[in-house]
Amino acid sequence: MKRVSPATGPKNFYLVLLDDGRLEASRDNELKEALLCIKCGRCYFSCPVYNSIGAEWISRESPYGGPTGVMWNYITNRDPWPSMYCVHSGGCGVVCPMNIDIPKVISSIKARATKDIVKNKKK
Ligand code: SF4
Repeated sequence: MKRVSPATGPKNFYLVLLDDGRLEASRDNELKEALLCIKCGRCYFSCPVYNSIGAEWISRESPYGGPTGVMWNYITNRDPWPSMYCVHSGGCGVVCPMNIDIPKVISSIKARATKDIVKNKKK
């Protein structure tokens, strides 16, 4: 164990920032509040869908799960399909310590997916 202070710290410092859809989400009035998520996981346990199907809901590869996973999977992968499983019980929005209106954000994602389906059927 060696203490690292500024005088004995590394000569080079590299900072890698990954945007992964966050900038675009910050400009989207319906999605931007999802960026406040601190990934505490409280919304998972108030969600009847997560309690029924667990990690299968989003994807085994995704680091995100539960109601917040619906929002973050859309922000980072533009995948709206997990929102279709939401039954809108509303518990996630009640327990969120960041006061994110998760049901509203999920409804918006679901509406976008539905619009895409209708648009593709008209083609
Ligand atoms: S309860 Fe709120 S802050 Fe916690 S993981 Fe869910 S969305 Fe994020």
